Amino acid sequence: MLKDSFGRTFPYIRMSITDVCNFKCGYCLPNGYQVDKSDNRKFLHLDEIKRLAKCFSELGVNKIRITGGEPTVRKDFFEIIKVLKVDAGIKKVVITTNGYHLDKKAKLLVDSGLNGINISMDSLNRETFKNVTGHDRLPEILEGIKNLQELGFENIKINAVLLNGINSSEKDFDAWSKFVQINKIDFRYIELMQTGDNLEYFKKYHSSSKIFKNYLNENNWIYQTLGKDAGPSINYINPEYKGKFGIIAPYSKDFCKTCNRLRITSRGDLRLCLFGNTGISVRHLLQKDDQLNELKDLILKQMQFKKESHYLELGDTGSTKNLSKTGG
Ligand code: SAM
Ligand code: SF4
Repeated sequence: MLKDSFGRTFPYIRMSITDVCNFKCGYCLPNGYQVDKSDNRKFLHLDEIKRLAKCFSELGVNKIRITGGEPTVRKDFFEIIKVLKVDAGIKKVVITTNGYHLDKKAKLLVDSGLNGINISMDSLNRETFKNVTGHDRLPEILEGIKNLQELGFENIKINAVLLNGINSSEKDFDAWSKFVQINKIDFRYIELMQTGDNLEYFKKYHSSSKIFKNYLNENNWIYQTLGKDAGPSINYINPEYKGKFGIIAPYSKDFCKTCNRLRITSRGDLRLCLFGNTGISVRHLLQKDDQLNELKDLILKQMQFKKESHYLELGDTGSTKNLSKTGG
């Protein structure tokens, strides 16, 4: 089992499989994906992903989230799901996606054996959605969600970045409220995080999640206490609603205490935290099947370098220019 010097265990990996994205979210890639000329390494290929996942599986990892960039733009995306599940034996394979072409992909996703999907959707208002992402694609995502539900897919979550003056009004909260009333879907607001590239945007649009918390308290939502391994979302339930609400507040005092995940970048760097500079490339040990034990040793040794917190509240964004690089 992967364990750090603060007693935290890591059964969960976030694996970025590409930096490429087809959206232009204002807080992440406002000018769209640009090739990184300072790093000409290719994205991990299928065999490397297979070896890495097998290694993690043997180190006790039972959940991998595939992310990016936009993971579904990779041509071998469905093969990657298969390799993780079948070859590496990872029990829970889940993805985070912007929902591009979700209407068309829903069936393939369900058939792939995927265990869960997080869809990033910053607004239920078509115009706002378009302004934030640079794409008028809200209807196809909503249609995709409907298709997933009709196919009996259960584990759907929606994440929105809380943006002051864009999607933070009572009207926005009411719209989501109506949505979760009739859909068995968890909706979570994530507080906007500062990255190396987005300081101006951050200053303009960051809002504390307290405003949403207050809304939940005023509308009879009940704080749900969860187990130690529940992850970073603080959840709220209401018996009259099919779905749940949640808040992900990375600036909150105890956010890092429940950290249970490590990250792999699309080029094979092991990152111990979403932020910070700690992490090394493990790619040289992904080239042959007989390197497995050496790879395990390297990863286990790295665990002692995991820090207690991300120090984001001090404005320390480490080497994270934007979250398309480390997978959000
Ligand atoms: N492209 C996929 C998507 O958007 O779901 C996966 C990658 S994206 C980097 C993962 C998540 O990070 C998304 O939910 C996105 O909204 C979130 N994200 C990106 N930049 C962020 C920031 N600066 N602060 C908070 N969340 C951010
Ligand atoms: Fe792309 Fe996701 Fe970043 Fe938006 S948040 S630009 S969809 S990687």
